[in-house]
Amino acid sequence: MNATTSVTVRVPAKVNLQLAVGPARGDGYHGLVNVFHAVSLFDEVTVSARTDLPPGQAVLSADGERPDHLARVPLDEGNLAARAAALLARHTPRATGVHIHLRKAIPVAGGMAGGSADAAAALVACDALWDSGVPREQLLELAADLGSDVPFPLLGHTAVGTGRGELLTPLPTPGTFHWVFALAEGGLSTAAVFAEYDRLRPDAPEPRLDHDLAAALAAGDPRRLGTALTNDLQPAALSLRPGLASVLDAGRAAGALGAVVSGSGPTCAFLAGSAEHARGLAAALRGLDECADTVTAHGPVPGATVL
Ligand code: ATP
Repeated sequence: MNATTSVTVRVPAKVNLQLAVGPARGDGYHGLVNVFHAVSLFDEVTVSARTDLPPGQAVLSADGERPDHLARVPLDEGNLAARAAALLARHTPRATGVHIHLRKAIPVAGGMAGGSADAAAALVACDALWDSGVPREQLLELAADLGSDVPFPLLGHTAVGTGRGELLTPLPTPGTFHWVFALAEGGLSTAAVFAEYDRLRPDAPEPRLDHDLAAALAAGDPRRLGTALTNDLQPAALSLRPGLASVLDAGRAAGALGAVVSGSGPTCAFLAGSAEHARGLAAALRGLDECADTVTAHGPVPGATVL
């Protein structure tokens, strides 16, 4: 008999090193070339068996250091981690009900895919709790069914996503990159940012992987990487939150090797030359009106891991 009653999985946030967005497709999604990079800013997801609940049904709780962020995390079946447990339960006869506890450190609605990371972690945790026997390839497919950003946190490190971002190819990257993230007050809705993108760029070309970026990653060269960071959603995020421009400018003025809005924002990402340089950049950003907080992190780091 399997005596496991509780499993904790640690899962990283992502920053997009390139986010190239094509025209809206017939199915409503945009074609993307999305270079994901996993950074050392982690949520922890603990699932515990609740045999008094139907298989796959979840009750949720959450804690974390930022009450304003926690207040935006749904604790019902709308939580992506609950949806992940329900989906995996349909593929294993050994499923139970679960209690899911989220320890949130990834900013909520911050463009760092925290909800997707929690969904990936819940898949891995429930897979271990239930000893589901679902093959890895199928876990990745279930992840893609949950959302375009859910497969990547299963892999971690650095990878390029094509299609709607869910078809992943790892990009081996030697060395470590040091980052500062400037968190903003309040979140930005991903759907609203894409809608603004469509308004600003009705003529978007087909997205392509940037060769300078790929070369910078292959060489592990932070200076080259800093100048190659791009995000097609950045003008849309800045249009909705104009104050972010001054955060990006301040980071550049303080010597960041690169500055870019992360995903759909409003978090801004800054590349530093070393851990010490990152701490200095964070100190320079902290006083800004538009910067609610800063965190430093490094990447790449592995994907969802059972603790
Ligand atoms: P992305 O970059 O993938 O668009 P994001 O980082 O901007 O996402 P998330 O933190 O994933 O944003 O949250 C977006 C919304 O998803 C939240 O406002 C919240 O309502 C909902 N949500 C569902 N599940 C979760 C979860 N486990 N953690 C955080 N938010 C969640």
